[in-house]
Amino acid sequence: PLDKEELGNATWGFLHTLASYYPEKPSKIEADNMVKFFNIFSQFYPCEPCAQDFQEDIQKNPPKTKTREELAKWLCDRHNTVNEKLGKPLFDCSKVHERWRDGWLD
Ligand code: FAD
Repeated sequence: PLDKEELGNATWGFLHTLASYYPEKPSKIEADNMVKFFNIFSQFYPCEPCAQDFQEDIQKNPPKTKTREELAKWLCDRHNTVNEKLGKPLFDCSKVHERWRDGWLD
């Protein structure tokens, strides 16, 4: 089985990539479905304490799915909430597409 760290690392990779490739201008159906995706994801994420806290966090801060930019920023903020809880460094959200879509520009 995956441990909590490996599962988390792989899952964030998937989620940030998903957000970075989400349409720049999604249809209403796509936007509604992405809200549903995060709600369902948080229900079934296979780490119980993680899922519990994430569900509470996204109830307070519902998914922003009107544009790719907004979704990527929203998800980055959610990840930073977890980083903060775990005592990990916060990520600079202006670099989210560089990290997860375009590759580091250096
Ligand atoms: P990760 O935090 O997994 O990050 C992977 C990579 O993402 C980093 O190397 C960095 O390049 C990039 N990154 C970092 N921050 C951001 C950001 N804000 N935006 C974009 N990219 C970023 N673990 C627990 O112990 N308790 C929990 O309650 C818990 N809740 C979780 C909830 C969710 C929804 C998920 C997906 C994971 C959760 N985890 C939890 C796991 C935890 O967040 C880490 O994934 C795990 O500790 C491994 O950390 P890591 O150092 O490999 O980096």
